[in-house]
Amino acid sequence: MNDGFVIAVDGSAASGKGTLAGRLAAHYGLPHLDTGLLYRAVGQAVGDPADEVAAAAAARSLDPHRLDDPALTTPAAGERASQVAAHPAVRAALLDLQTGFARQPGGAVLDGRDIGTVIAPFAPAKLYVDAALAIRAQRRWRQAQGRGDQVTLDAMMQDLARRDARDSSRATAPLTRAPDAALLDTTLLSIESAFDEALRIVETARARWLAL
Ligand code: C5P
Repeated sequence: MNDGFVIAVDGSAASGKGTLAGRLAAHYGLPHLDTGLLYRAVGQAVGDPADEVAAAAAARSLDPHRLDDPALTTPAAGERASQVAAHPAVRAALLDLQTGFARQPGGAVLDGRDIGTVIAPFAPAKLYVDAALAIRAQRRWRQAQGRGDQVTLDAMMQDLARRDARDSSRATAPLTRAPDAALLDTTLLSIESAFDEALRIVETARARWLAL
């Protein structure tokens, strides 16, 4: 049985879940795994993202300590990640790494698409983060502008919509809100307000967990 406090953060692309997960991890002094980076790294390592056998081999030989390549954060890397993430063999190859992280004795924070449903259904605190597509696209577009990337707002919106549709409709571990996950809609929230709200939700869950 897991004896650490685990926070599962799932949600749509560019909803703010990664930022919130990082801040929650810092707040509670817990290790954090951005599971999207695993799929991004697999997408980067493989020649053709449609090739399930090659992608699964890349997933098996993935070095989880080398996920800090800035190239992994681009929209193109997100698109390739979403393609390899639809292969059941890729998800299976990355399963042990993620469940091992979630079950480490001191607890952990993980963010992704299937944390509350598949990787850590036992997590005492679960958040499902979402925001209106236009707002998510605008946030990502501003970040891209800041980096000097040439991408239009319209292309960004289409990119996120396509990725959400693929992630939600795939047969294995689709993006879906766990029945016991608290919905956090960040459409109208600043990052500060979103974090305050996330903290309030997690603190409530933590009090329940401590009382068990
Ligand atoms: O969260 P991020 O945008 O970095 O994720 C990139 C892609 O990786 C997602 O669009 C999704 O297809 C995939 N992913 C996944 N399961 C996770 C995390 C990410 O399928 N737990």
